[in-house]
Amino acid sequence: MQQSYARLFENNRKWVSDKLNLDPDYFKKMAEGQKPKYLFIGCSDSRVPANEITGTEPGEMFVHRNIANMVVHTDMNLMSVLQYAVQVLKVEHVIVCGHYGCGGVAAAMGNKSLGLIDAWLRNIKDSYSKNRDYVEAAESDDARFRRLVESNVKEQVFNLHMTSIVQMAKNAGQDLQVHGWVYDLHDGLLNDLEIDHEKHFTDFDLYEFDK
Ligand SMILES: [Zn+2]
Repeated sequence: MQQSYARLFENNRKWVSDKLNLDPDYFKKMAEGQKPKYLFIGCSDSRVPANEITGTEPGEMFVHRNIANMVVHTDMNLMSVLQYAVQVLKVEHVIVCGHYGCGGVAAAMGNKSLGLIDAWLRNIKDSYSKNRDYVEAAESDDARFRRLVESNVKEQVFNLHMTSIVQMAKNAGQDLQVHGWVYDLHDGLLNDLEIDHEKHFTDFDLYEFDK
């Protein structure tokens, strides 16, 4: 056990020396500040590391992760990250990235009580409820699972568009795009769901603030 823990520090020392070999000023530059263009909202799943799957370096991507990449408007953690990323860092892209095989989505498809997490999974069940006909029209359990992963990402993209943070930025002419992606654990590829909220979110007018 001690060995698996110590390995992290050994890795860290090696990483530092690799970076310094390439650029002796690497950490000096890093300490000066960040100007990321992307906010990545992903799942906490250990198999979906934001920087690694997008080939981005430290400093390029602001990251928030939670179970099943949810955008919950009462979640002060997520909302603070979003506000800071959009208004202060002025990111150009907000990405919700789900993944096939998501344990959170799988749990939300079942009816077992798992404790405190039930309250969080309920938000995923809401995505299920809104997309139930589409999800259940699929022919196999696996296809239904994949459809709910995708539908859940779509709902989180809509949730972002419902926030005053995103709406205010867009109304002020800030360069900001919101994207929904799904990562496939089986082949490592990212798929852009190309969600257009103006086309696909029919109730958007209910959530739209006056300009
Ligand atoms: Zn997941």
